[in-house]
Amino acid sequence: MKVTIMSKRNVHVAIVGGGMGGLAAALALFRRGISVAVYEQSSVLKEIGAGLFVYPNSLRQLERLGVGDALARVGAKVGSGSEYYRMDGAVVGKILITDSSGWNGLYGMHRADILNVLAEALPSSAIHTGHRCIGFIQDNAGAQLFFENGNVAHADVVIAADGINSVLQKYVVEPSAPEYAGCRAYRGVLPAEALPDWRREAHQVWMGDGKHFMVFPLRRGELLNYVGFVPTTNETAESWSAVGDRDELAASFSGWDTRVTRLLDEVQTCFWWGLYDRKPLDRWVNGRLALLGDAAHPMLPHLGQGANQAIEDGMALAVLLEGCPDNFSVEEALARYETLRRPRTAMVQAEARKNGLRYDSKYADLGERDREIANSALLRKDLYDYDVEQRANEMRRQDSVPT
Ligand SMILES: Cc1cc2nc3c(=O)[nH]c(=O)nc-3n(C[C@H](O)[C@H](O)[C@H](O)COP(=O)(O)OP(=O)(O)OC[C@H]3O[C@@H](n4cnc5c(N)ncnc54)[C@H](O)[C@@H]3O)c2cc1C
Repeated sequence: MKVTIMSKRNVHVAIVGGGMGGLAAALALFRRGISVAVYEQSSVLKEIGAGLFVYPNSLRQLERLGVGDALARVGAKVGSGSEYYRMDGAVVGKILITDSSGWNGLYGMHRADILNVLAEALPSSAIHTGHRCIGFIQDNAGAQLFFENGNVAHADVVIAADGINSVLQKYVVEPSAPEYAGCRAYRGVLPAEALPDWRREAHQVWMGDGKHFMVFPLRRGELLNYVGFVPTTNETAESWSAVGDRDELAASFSGWDTRVTRLLDEVQTCFWWGLYDRKPLDRWVNGRLALLGDAAHPMLPHLGQGANQAIEDGMALAVLLEGCPDNFSVEEALARYETLRRPRTAMVQAEARKNGLRYDSKYADLGERDREIANSALLRKDLYDYDVEQRANEMRRQDSVPT
């Protein structure tokens, strides 16, 4: 349905999903004085024990949103000793840990820590837990969201930040299932004191035949986050909380570099996660409804950019919606958002797939893989240098949506 939206003052935005993407978008909107409410299905905001990278491209935005100091208190700087290895420990090359200016804006973060920082920066009245969205309608006057608990919310704009299995995505594109990558990630954290000789600041990646293993620090370096990527024929659920088999994990990396096997000796329990992504969607917006984060562009984790891209999405939305209604209508703001964000995230989705092939050594000539790994520093540099706020401001100044 084509919805014509009249410009009006005091745009109110409803965000479905209180994960990293939803909360970062809420904070970006809130900081620009835009009225926002988040609706999260869980009864409390929570993330389980696992880590992710915050890279310069999103840390730059988060600092502008005023949470830089709070993140610095809970993050672990990732820096010296960051390297790629073959499975036997032979060094392949260094991992880029700065943007072009030399800024080491790179943290290993516990997911719970970054979620708490974002939630605490928002007024508690803006977050509505226990709200599982089950339906959506829109017309020229506004949009409505329907929740399992019987509540109904009204908004001028609805942001679907409800993850890879988004319930709102079907209001924008034909329903389709995410694609299984044939790979399972075993993940967990260890106290760093369990491995006193470990390089505390390092992001380290071991690349073997069809598998790879990585370690990086979390929480001021007090924890080590490990992830082992192993091929499977059985689909594994896409879940942060499914308990994995630590013996299977250890067996998968038996005979690898002793740094890997020594770490795995310390593992008592782990989680596992099936890897899924999608090909880029044809569109992200329908009238007042826009997709964000994994609902728009789920990607494989082989560049560590999923949440980083979701944070960029939120900043772009806030800049463009701030242009309403003086510069353009809500519908046009969302069209500009899609125009700005879709090509960049499609590129990252494709590059994450390619990087997975490198990490899993799917090459007849490993020398070629090693050269590509060295060249991938150029891609990382471009990713890290990107300033979404600046790009969104440029897009906002355009007379019409570029085609
Ligand atoms: C092994 C692994 C490692 C990764 N490492 C990194 C990394 O280093 N760096 C990085 O940037 N990314 C990483 N990612 C990707 C990252 O985790 C995701 O891209 C990111 O969490 C997406 O955020 P989101 O807010 O879009 O979705 P989610 O985090 O999935 O949040 C969606 C939220 O919506 C809620 N929800 C769902 N349905 C409804 C509904 N109907 N009503 C209300 N609420 C609903 C959910 O409860 C949830 O809180 C990794 C992923 C994997 C698998």
